[in-house]
Amino acid sequence: MKKPLIVQKFGGTSVGSIERIHQVAQHIINAKNSDNQVVVVVSAMSGETNRLVDLAQQIDSVPNARELDVLLSAGEQVSMALLAMTLNKMGYPSRSLTGAQARIVTDEQHNDATIKQIDVSPILKLLEQDQIVIVAGFQGITESGDITTLGRGGSDTTAVALAGALQADECQIFTDVDGIYTCDPRVVESAHKLEVIDFPSMESMARHGAKVLHLPSVLHAWENQVPLRVLSTFDVNQGSLVKGDECLHSVCGLAIQRDMCLIKVAKPVLISVEKQCQLIGIDIWDVIEHPEWFGIVVKQDAFSKLELVLQGKVADRHQISLLTAVGANTQELAESLNSLLAEHKISAIHQKSDERSLTTALLPECVNSAANLLHQAYIMPSKAHDCLQKHAYLG
Ligand code: ADP
Ligand code: ASP
Ligand code: MG
Repeated sequence: MKKPLIVQKFGGTSVGSIERIHQVAQHIINAKNSDNQVVVVVSAMSGETNRLVDLAQQIDSVPNARELDVLLSAGEQVSMALLAMTLNKMGYPSRSLTGAQARIVTDEQHNDATIKQIDVSPILKLLEQDQIVIVAGFQGITESGDITTLGRGGSDTTAVALAGALQADECQIFTDVDGIYTCDPRVVESAHKLEVIDFPSMESMARHGAKVLHLPSVLHAWENQVPLRVLSTFDVNQGSLVKGDECLHSVCGLAIQRDMCLIKVAKPVLISVEKQCQLIGIDIWDVIEHPEWFGIVVKQDAFSKLELVLQGKVADRHQISLLTAVGANTQELAESLNSLLAEHKISAIHQKSDERSLTTALLPECVNSAANLLHQAYIMPSKAHDCLQKHAYLG
């Protein structure tokens, strides 16, 4: 009978030192000894990608996108080799593969590429030889042979895409928290772990900044029904399972997106600024037509790129943070949420909603206290418990 196949992904903190790489190796060995075939995806050691970005920016504030990908892909290459060496040394034959060697083909969008296809034959061949296969996360190769990267946090997407292509029995994302919480547990101490979260809610959480999963990984897993679990490298438990196509509960969680930038512009140049953004591929989160001013909201790191083309058209620029309530009926919360914030002297700069989310733009220094307030008010443990029960029934 064919052995089960598991894809395990280990993030930056999990491979952050040689000692931690040994811990990771032990997880892999446990899976292998339980008679599984194991494919592993690794991120760069923690801090490494930032260090490489910083080196590049010492040369050019907007580095050449192709060369930046060549540089950043080196981070994952270091961890994959160290992990393969560790496993081999421990007596478990392993082989590391770069994105190109694993034949992960992407489009040409440097720094934010999308995986188009994976030819799994090199991995299958190694699995047949009973090897543990270690693949560098976050990278691929274009049809014309250039290295690409998948956007920050992209190793999750490598893992899910490989799990889909290999028809793995489960894709396990090992990280530094023991699952998916109702809000980032580093910000809201009373946040609780969700044993199960449905795909639409997880998609909305990831889209609005919950970096525990890279957004394309959630979309890919949802579309291809890849069994996806988030769990801790450092604390053994079942973690959280992402499962189910329906968003069942009114407020399931809160997501925080920091480092956004509100660019205020004079009304006559608003349209041309929007066009420039489109031309150079900058996503605009929203265009705000306030009674007293006009502005666009983009990611902070897109601003240096935009600054090059705006040249003097920016009247004013502020860093802002976005706090999003995710769930089926969040739109209905707007009024009570605004009064709650006002009661605590926190002013909302702007608000935007869609069918599963209500986002409030805030000054960065207010976002943590606002998250705690909203969590206390709308995400009662009993509600979360209800939602778990519902999911348990759904099986
Ligand atoms: P990795 O390096 O393993 O990919 P990340 O730093 O990308 O890890 O993602 C894990 C982090 O995501 C956690 O340390 C936590 O601070 C943050 N996070 C944000 N929102 C959530 C959430 N809802 N549940 C769990 N973790 C979250
Ligand atoms: N190393 C990359 C990053 O820091 C990819 C990842 O960690 O998933 O964004
Ligand atoms: Mg990550």
